[in-house]
Amino acid sequence: MKISTITNLAYAVTVLLTALSGLAFILSDRMAAAERQSVEVHLALNDLGAQLEVDAELRTDEARLYVMRGDPAHLAVFERVNDEEHRLEEMARRAEAIGASGEELALLKRITATVDRLEEIETGAVETYRSGNVQAARDALFGDEHYGQHVRLVADVERFRTMVDQRTGLELQRAQIRADWLGLIARILLALTAVVFLAVLYFVLRRRVSVPLTQMAGIVKRLATQDFAVEVPHDGRRDEIGELTAAIRVFRENGLERERLDAERRRDLKMKDLILQMMRRMQACQKVPEIAEVVGRFSPQIFPELGGALFLRNEANTELSRLGSWKLPEEAAASFDPQECWGLRRGQPHHSTSEREDVDCQHLAQASDSVLCIPLSAHGDTLGVLSFADLSGNREVIRDYQAYLGMIGENVALAVANLQLRERLTRLAVRDPLTGLLNRRSLDEALAGWARADGEPELTCFVIDIDHFKRFNDEFGHDAGDTVLQTVGGILTDIVGERGVCYRFGGEEFAVLLPQVSPEEAYRIAEHIRTRMATMTLSHAGRILGTVTVSIGIADNRGGKSVGTVRSRADAALFAAKASGRNQTLGDESAAPPAGEA
Ligand code: GH3
Ligand code: MG
Ligand code: MG
Repeated sequence: MKISTITNLAYAVTVLLTALSGLAFILSDRMAAAERQSVEVHLALNDLGAQLEVDAELRTDEARLYVMRGDPAHLAVFERVNDEEHRLEEMARRAEAIGASGEELALLKRITATVDRLEEIETGAVETYRSGNVQAARDALFGDEHYGQHVRLVADVERFRTMVDQRTGLELQRAQIRADWLGLIARILLALTAVVFLAVLYFVLRRRVSVPLTQMAGIVKRLATQDFAVEVPHDGRRDEIGELTAAIRVFRENGLERERLDAERRRDLKMKDLILQMMRRMQACQKVPEIAEVVGRFSPQIFPELGGALFLRNEANTELSRLGSWKLPEEAAASFDPQECWGLRRGQPHHSTSEREDVDCQHLAQASDSVLCIPLSAHGDTLGVLSFADLSGNREVIRDYQAYLGMIGENVALAVANLQLRERLTRLAVRDPLTGLLNRRSLDEALAGWARADGEPELTCFVIDIDHFKRFNDEFGHDAGDTVLQTVGGILTDIVGERGVCYRFGGEEFAVLLPQVSPEEAYRIAEHIRTRMATMTLSHAGRILGTVTVSIGIADNRGGKSVGTVRSRADAALFAAKASGRNQTLGDESAAPPAGEA
């Protein structure tokens, strides 16, 4: 019930009780008036009775004095008293008006009749006296009848007064009792009013207002300090306090929602910050595997619920190999066929779930029910796949993050593409595209590096030139010449292996740098190269090209000779080999093979 309803009800009850108690007071007052009236009636009737008797006696006395003394003064008094007696008799006849009862009226009538009879006797006696019959007048006034009437008058008046006493006394008593009762009722009602008022005051102020308000003040204080864990009670009240509680509940729910949004915003900001950091690290990467390391470090921080892997395709686009992974189980595939990934096939992010709504990628291990494969493409080229697998068991997580994951995919693709491009350009700058060997610039840099090295460590240099190469070109065409160049490059790489580095120095000239190799070993390697070429029959486009021979010049930095001149000295040795008839290996100084090897 609303507090206003309770207070209105209490107000109505209080007003009713107050009105009733007022009524009781009024009635009690009326009873007091009735009491007063009874007293007045009593006094008036008592007076009338007494006065009738007194005047009758006075008149008798004056009549008797007159007939005894003959003094006309007594006659005058007699007549005046007689008039007064008439007036009293008139009053007695109208005694009903001053409250006389029927019985009293009857008695009053008897009394006035007696008074009249006495008047008659006395007036007759006065007349008789005047007519000179003194004795007869005296006899009449002192006679038995007069005496009898007088006795009767005294007795009747006495009875009348007793009757009035009794009746008015009874009425007075009744009026008093009623007035007392009404007074008591009025006081009780007044006390009830006070009790109702105090009870309502207690109920409304303490139980329904003070206690809940104190509770609510505590709740509001906690809410003000952002403590939204505080519980707002569901007391089901439909009054103003209930409305206040509902408002506070809404306030708390809004606060909770605001807190949730704040936390989401903070999480989002942190996520964006981490993504930005990751992108900056990726831009600073020098090699493609570093990108996998950066993504593997940052992704678990940005998306704690997700594991993932970065796959890059090989040159031939026949396989995707895992470059790095994070939070994924061991059994996750290390490589797979590009055709197994729907993301790559469609060129769009593909979400594989176990819900069987869509086709699933075949390369996935059973690690997760929800995997997103983002194809990495940049500059119109597909480079690989970035895949994210949900580990939390909530498939929606990936859908929630999809925009961010797509953005990361684009950035990884760009970073990989840039590094691959850079690697390709670097390779082009330092390698010969035809044979894949390092180029002359690389040779110069390598020699300069050796020259700078502390103490000039031992280095042997071969300069190798194909004999009469021009003739191949002229006879079989430039392509056939290229085949010869590639064959020589392959043989050099094969024979030198890990022992040194091979370069294509110029058109059909090659160089080999061999660190820490004895002159004998160097000569053996050079001869191995030369004899392998000399014993090999080459063919191109179904045509036999015949035998290709090479001449080799060797020089080293032993015996105080400088690295700076090692190539020119090897060149000179080559020149000598050519001059001596080609298909030969010669050392620099002697322009002849080292001792014991020729
Ligand atoms: P020599 O025995 O004295 O070394 O005679 P040569 O014919 O081998 O030497 P020369 O310097 O006269 O000719 C070198 C030829 O190599 C000239 C050029 O046409 C050819 N050549 C240079 N670079 C290439 C190339 O990349 N491919 C092909 N097919 N030929 C090349
Ligand atoms: Mg040459
Ligand atoms: Mg040549």
